[in-house]
Amino acid sequence: MCNFTPEQLKLQKKVRAFIKAYIDPISKECDVTGVLPSSVFKAWADAGLACLVAPKETGGPELDTVTCTIVMEELGYAELGVATAFGANNLCSYPVLLAGTPEQQKKHFAPLLAGNYGAFALTEPKAGSDVGAISTTAKRDGDEYILNGTKCFITQGGVAATYVLFASTDKSKGSKGMSAFIVERDRPGLSIGKVEDKMGIHASNTVELILENVRIPAWHLLGNEGDGMKLAMMSLDAGRLMVAAQAVGVAQRALDECVDYIKKRVDSGKLLSAHQSVDFKIAEMATAIEAGRQLVYRGAELKDSQQPYSKYSAMAKLFCTDVAVQAATDAMEIMGAYGYTKDAYIEKVWRDVRILPIYEGTNQIQRIVISKAVLDKR
Ligand SMILES: Cc1cc2nc3c(=O)[nH]c(=O)nc-3n(C[C@H](O)[C@H](O)[C@H](O)COP(=O)(O)OP(=O)(O)OC[C@H]3O[C@@H](n4cnc5c(N)ncnc54)[C@H](O)[C@@H]3O)c2cc1C
Repeated sequence: MCNFTPEQLKLQKKVRAFIKAYIDPISKECDVTGVLPSSVFKAWADAGLACLVAPKETGGPELDTVTCTIVMEELGYAELGVATAFGANNLCSYPVLLAGTPEQQKKHFAPLLAGNYGAFALTEPKAGSDVGAISTTAKRDGDEYILNGTKCFITQGGVAATYVLFASTDKSKGSKGMSAFIVERDRPGLSIGKVEDKMGIHASNTVELILENVRIPAWHLLGNEGDGMKLAMMSLDAGRLMVAAQAVGVAQRALDECVDYIKKRVDSGKLLSAHQSVDFKIAEMATAIEAGRQLVYRGAELKDSQQPYSKYSAMAKLFCTDVAVQAATDAMEIMGAYGYTKDAYIEKVWRDVRILPIYEGTNQIQRIVISKAVLDKR
């Protein structure tokens, strides 16, 4: 794993202080109400962290991937729903970093850095894992495109000021006819549909977006017509490292909650931590979490040094998210009846982590990416 620089350690400390001041106090209430107070994101933006990857020229911090990983691991440890919500601004920015002109970058990053959310709108009711099957269309009309269709499960979609949205500009070309666009929230014809009532990560907002003859200027097209699939896949490669980082953080939280408990709970006349069978489980959890951490930081280092990292981000996403789910299950079991109650933070963690193997490409899809990379090499 990388040795963090003094600047990275300073930022880690700053994020921990932020969490203590702003996230820990609202975490439980947020889980109940499903409302992440806007003041929390405003404070995050005031701390200069609204969009970690925003380039310096646009006024952003332009953090490298290892540094983003540190931030996401801390947020995952604190509150997976908040990590998901704050992370949306990075995910929706990757296509703009990859293909945006200076004018498009200014357009996209200005609202984010001013303390607004952005969202990455790819999934549709009939196109989840098979993203090439999207049916939202973008039809060129003079200097504009007209968008029609429905997106679903869009993180922060209901509270975002801007979207990077994928639509088909040529259905006859299938996934090669997919294109990416910057779409502002206040465009006439764009509305919010169903708001999902989720099992966990309640601090994040997940909605359906409905597009009915939404007109956007033609210059909002990112790259060329047909670049959408490539931009979506490259963005998800980057995003999966962040999901893996969140998974390492929340898995560590599960372990720490469990360790605190077994050091206090007496059973059969001795502390739970004095039972070797319990301690062996702790050893397995700690080992798996550390292995995941190595994988995700290795992927981040590869990305930062401009080396191929797609296989690593898929491996990190697959491994770390499975580790997080297992850690939450093991921790809850060790914590017994208390772990099953809402008094125990692990109960929330157990619900929250279930999303990790699903979003930004299910873990089955990661297996496809990894096996393809391995087989193509031989
Ligand atoms: C809370 C939440 C937030 C989300 N945020 C966003 C967002 O911000 N933006 C966005 O665009 N999307 C978002 N999504 C959507 C998410 O990325 C998709 O749910 C995910 O990609 C899986 O798609 P699906 O749910 O349609 O599952 P399906 O594609 O229907 O898959 C169902 C099952 O079949 C398996 N499967 C499918 N195809 C294959 C295959 N070829 N080989 C093997 N197994 C396969 C899958 O692994 C899965 O187990 C979010 C979803 C949730 C729940």
